[in-house]
Amino acid sequence: MRQKIVAGNWKMNLDIDSGKELLIQIIDADLNSDCLTIVAPPYIHFHNFKRMLSHTNIALAAQNCHAQESGAYTGEISVKMLKSVGVEYVILGHSERREYFNEDSLAISFKVNTVIKEGLRPIYCCGETLAERKEGEHFETISTQIKQGLFQLNEMELLNCVIAYEPVWAIGTGETASPEQAQEIHAFIRKTIAEEFGEIVANSISILYGGSVKPGNAKELFNCPDIDGGLIGGAALDVTSFTALTNSF
Ligand code: PEP
Repeated sequence: MRQKIVAGNWKMNLDIDSGKELLIQIIDADLNSDCLTIVAPPYIHFHNFKRMLSHTNIALAAQNCHAQESGAYTGEISVKMLKSVGVEYVILGHSERREYFNEDSLAISFKVNTVIKEGLRPIYCCGETLAERKEGEHFETISTQIKQGLFQLNEMELLNCVIAYEPVWAIGTGETASPEQAQEIHAFIRKTIAEEFGEIVANSISILYGGSVKPGNAKELFNCPDIDGGLIGGAALDVTSFTALTNSF
């Protein structure tokens, strides 16, 4: 059975005290134990969070990393560094990275390789813009992003990846893909993977939906056959909403 996952992307929010406060609330909350809960805070929190999470099933994720192992890359962080503070997952190719930091799928594929090599797990994001959807180019966009970002991996490596479908037009906008729209793309991603790696691999990978997921729309989305949970932005900053999302399957 595919793993159900709710991952909270805190983005560039919450300083050392407010981040700690939210994590304490999450640890004390009534999270669904059938679903893997992941938190992706800013880097400053990892050292404290590793200790705070040591007796829980909550996993830590980073929001980015550098593709190189070490070196003169001012302002960057390596996968080895992330590993040393207990990080297990790395979000890669988020649309904000693609848009504001000019990351394309090829550049992201190098990060994917480094994350895999270090034994961590990428959460690889893909998604079309509103213009691409209006032009009917969304399948092509998703197919290209998946192939360029992930198809250099072998089967075993791909099985260590999580994919997140996040239509750009739904991120932080309050607008959500309908369950039908989301299911259609999730099934398409699975079909794209099956064509290259076979049905067993395709059916073993968790594919998350992201884009204005809230307690009010999560149940319908998470109950779609190819949606295995969510990558959550805004609603991950509130313990009540976040807890409700883990209980929305
Ligand atoms: C995200 O940033 O990955 C995201 C899905 O954000 P939001 O839930 O706020 O739309």
